[in-house]
Parts: sequence; structure tokens; C-alpha cells
Amino acid sequence: MKKSKKFIIIESDDILLTIHYQAFKNNYWEVEEMKVLVMNCGSSSLKYQLINMENEEVLAIGLAERIGIDGSVVKHETTGKQKVTIEEAMVDHKAAIKIVLEALVHNEYGAIASMDEIGAVGHRVVHGGEKFASSVVINDEILKAIEECSDLAPLHNPANLMGINACQEILPNVPMVGVFDTAFHQTMPEASYMYALPYELYEKHAVRRYGFHGTSHKYVSAKAAEMLGKSIEELKIVTCHLGNGASIAAVKNGQSIDTSMGLTPLEGLVMGTRCGDIDPAIIAFWMEKENITIAEATNVMNKKSGVLGLSGVSSDFRDIEGAAAEGNKRAQLALDVYYQRVKKYIGAYAAEMGGIDAVVFTAGLGENSATARKAICEDLEFLGMKIDDAKNDVRGKQVVVSTDDSTVKVLLIPTNEELVIARDTKTLVG
Ligand code: AMP
Repeated sequence: MKKSKKFIIIESDDILLTIHYQAFKNNYWEVEEMKVLVMNCGSSSLKYQLINMENEEVLAIGLAERIGIDGSVVKHETTGKQKVTIEEAMVDHKAAIKIVLEALVHNEYGAIASMDEIGAVGHRVVHGGEKFASSVVINDEILKAIEECSDLAPLHNPANLMGINACQEILPNVPMVGVFDTAFHQTMPEASYMYALPYELYEKHAVRRYGFHGTSHKYVSAKAAEMLGKSIEELKIVTCHLGNGASIAAVKNGQSIDTSMGLTPLEGLVMGTRCGDIDPAIIAFWMEKENITIAEATNVMNKKSGVLGLSGVSSDFRDIEGAAAEGNKRAQLALDVYYQRVKKYIGAYAAEMGGIDAVVFTAGLGENSATARKAICEDLEFLGMKIDDAKNDVRGKQVVVSTDDSTVKVLLIPTNEELVIARDTKTLVG
């Protein structure tokens, strides 16, 4: 097939077909040029990106905050144009999405001429339970199934649903896709996902490990294989998603075989404000000593623990690293506990996979803190992991940060969950 500016010419032994280029483009290339709106709805916020799937270019990015509260605001930026802040009342997600769409088509700071250009919307959905092992086109049945998973993520799934419902009302003819944080980890074997509790708890209430940040672990493990020039099917990779929320996964032959988050995103690594793994008996002990309710204890474990609780300084690693450098002992302790937990999981996953080929660092801390990467990899030389200090002195770039003779490659890969959502959406809708 040859392509001229005006005609497509299809030649074979028997036929010579000339098709007008524009007609071909309109009929068959629409999918290639699809623009996907990616939505990530929280209870009072909404993050979005508009991505041109022809070249995966981000056309616009933004954040609506304080939805349903006084002072709601949308911060919007179209690539190549001035960033704008739109202060307008948003009583609910529908009102916020209307303002976002108006911003996207605005004649000064918009990214597209009309809403008709939006070919599909991809929604991040936090919990897909055991129902979803991959992304799906949303219909009434799927909405019901997502609602049924709300029990497992009461803070997240209802907010995701609000966003989907609002989008469906405003864009009734646009296909919607749900991309689940838990889906990538559905390949875990029973031995990884079962807790040693009475089996009936799993049968009756689906109590098991699900894992989260699946889109991120999937994206960076695939990128790692690409960087190493190997097929993912032959690699054993540990992916460390170290952001405000943090999780780690063992990705063997392209499949998640274990991950640190559990039934909820509270288990596993130490996080900004979440405690991660603790002795479960602590909760009853502490409730009795302090005469607090389970709701209060849960709130403290989610919002006042982690490096914030340990350091008493902040949940932000920049503040903690700064305080530790000035000699704050509790800040240093918070970092030490944090690093040690990550290290412990890397060791455990090396054992589970029978070795490792690569360790990937991603998300806020993983992408930006050379200190954290070095401290975590220190003492892991026995596994064949050697950080190169000069290469590691980098932020937010896709690079190898281990020495040339390091048999386990240490990689820094900026995550891109929005792109995974957009790609899945295009694939399913296309
Ligand atoms: P995320 O949830 O992926 O957006 O990551 C947010 C976290 O990344 C923040 O809480 C910071 O602690 C951390 N972070 C971002 N930039 C830096 C940096 N330059 N140095 C250390 N930590 C950082």
C-alpha cells in the first residue's frame, strides 16, 4: 500500500484500487486519531488528562479540587498554553466535569474545538475485587459490579462511580472504560493472596490480598523489559512504587506474583501517613489502653502514621530528608524504618522468584530521591545489586542507575498510570 497526499493506492496482482485519502481517513483512521479523556476521581477531587492516541501526546492536564466544598477550583493546562485557574462553585462531580469540559473546548485556553473530539473516557477505578482481571467497557452490569466492590474500598470506589455516572450523563454517547488498580495483581497465586485466617472469611467476605497501584507496576515492569532489551516473559522484576502511598510487587515473566498491599492499601510498606505492616494484636492492645474506637484507630493508622507518625515532622519526604540532614533523630529514624521495610520486601521477593534481574524505582520518592534509592540498595550487593553514585544522581528520568557490572539492574522509570488507562481505553473501544 502506498500513501500519497491525496490518494491511497492499494496494489496487488489482480487489483489496483485508488481510494480518496480523506474518505479512507474518515472511515478507517478514526481509531488511530482517538482522543481519550482520562479521569481519576476522588471524593472531593478529580484529576484529568486528555491524550491524543495517535502519538500519545498529552493535550491537556488538570485538577478539580474541593468539589462539594467552598472554594472549589479547577487548575487547567493545555500543552503549550498558559496555565489557568478557574474558581467556580462545583456542588458535585457533574458540575466539576462540566467545567473541565468547558475548559477543554475553551477558545483561548482549550485543547480541542468540540467535545465530539473526545472518542472515549478512561476511568481509574481503585477496587475491582476478584471480578476484574483486566480493563472493561463500562455498561450497567459493570457499574453494578463496581458498586459491589465498594465494600472493599469504601473511600475510593463510590468516588470513582460518581465520576463515571457524571461523565455518562454529560457525554451519553461516548464509550467509557474502567481500569482497575487491582487488576494487574489478579495473577497472584493463592499462596500469595490468602491470609492465614479461617478460610470462611475468604468465602463469605472475599477477605484476601488484592494489591493496588497495578497500572503503575504493569507500566514500569513493561518499560523495564524494553530498557533491558529483553522479553518480559523471561524476567524477574521487583517494582517499587514509592509515592505518598507505596507498594512493591514481584513481577515474574510479566505477571504479578506477589505485592505488598493487601485487602486495602494499608498493608505493606511504610508510607507517608500509613503504617503498613504491623502486628495485628497492637490494635486491640492500643484500643484498650487509650479507650479509643476501631474507627479512631483505623483513622490514625491511615492518616497519622507512616513517616509522619514516626518523625513528627511531615509526611513529605523532602521535609523529612531535610530535617534528618539537620540532625533530627526521629526524622532519621522514620527514614531508616522506611528504607529497611523496602529492603526487606526486595529480599523476600528475590526469594519468592528465585532471583531478580531488575529492581525498578518509581513514583514521587522513587523517581526523585537519590538518597532513598541508595539507602535501599545498600547491603543488597550480595544479590548482585550495585548502585552507581554518579548515574544515581538524577531525578525523574528513565535511566539505569546501577553499575555496568551490577548483575541486577537498578532502573529509575517515571510511572505513567494515565497512559496505561488511555491505552487500555483505546484498545477496548477501538
Ligand atoms: P506521589 O504520591 O507519587 O505523587 O509522591 C509524592 C511523594 O513524593 C511526596 O510525598 C514526597 O515525599 C515525594 N517526593 C517528591 N519529590 C521529592 C524529592 N525531590 N525528594 C524526595 N521526595 C520527593
